[in-house]
Amino acid sequence: MRLPGSPLARLRAERTRWAERGDAVQCPVCGGRFARFLPYGGREGAICPGCGCAERHRLLWLWLTEEDRLHGRMLAFGPDDATEQRLRARPGLDYLSADIDGTQAMVAADVTRLPFDDGSFDCVLCSHVLEHVGDEQGALRELRRVLAPGGWAAIMVPVDRSVRETIEDPSVTKPEQRLARYGHDDHVRLYGADVATRLGADDVVDPLTRFGAERERRHGLRRADRFGPDEVYLCRA
Ligand SMILES: [Zn+2]
Repeated sequence: MRLPGSPLARLRAERTRWAERGDAVQCPVCGGRFARFLPYGGREGAICPGCGCAERHRLLWLWLTEEDRLHGRMLAFGPDDATEQRLRARPGLDYLSADIDGTQAMVAADVTRLPFDDGSFDCVLCSHVLEHVGDEQGALRELRRVLAPGGWAAIMVPVDRSVRETIEDPSVTKPEQRLARYGHDDHVRLYGADVATRLGADDVVDPLTRFGAERERRHGLRRADRFGPDEVYLCRA
């Protein structure tokens, strides 16, 4: 979701912020307090009225800030509109964003052929990218290659909890087939319960375990549909 840019869109966003004023929920990204997070895509409690971020952005941001991980050389592959400007402006963070679409990031790049030397970064963020990438293992190798010793990568993908084993069918190529099979017309697989093993994760950050029920609710960390809850898959170099 893009942040509102035009004066009219900004006015609408301001009106939404006013309409949703309250103190029932608090966004970790923008700090705003509201009566609720707004519904989006058929699920309740999704979007922050202040900054437009979704559940997964709030989970990742809260984890990054509470664990004091926002420093050193960071690569965000597939940056989020909700956090991009905040990361660029973060003191002490040497930040670079990359995306296959150069208009969305600082550098245009293919995640399976990153234009960076080995060990160029201390940390990597890669959220909701790999479900679009055919050569998933090639992308994971590249993300690990650009990490310096001791570095880490935080990876997020949509996961269907009702699916035991990730579904990837080479005969599924058309958008309507992908929508029917994977839930989105531009996804190339449907991640299932084997996701952490598949990504080679050393650790999994689950919002309920990490932050507890009250903070999970207050910060709107739990995505309430078939792809929730979001988790962060942590891979160490
Ligand atoms: Zn916010």
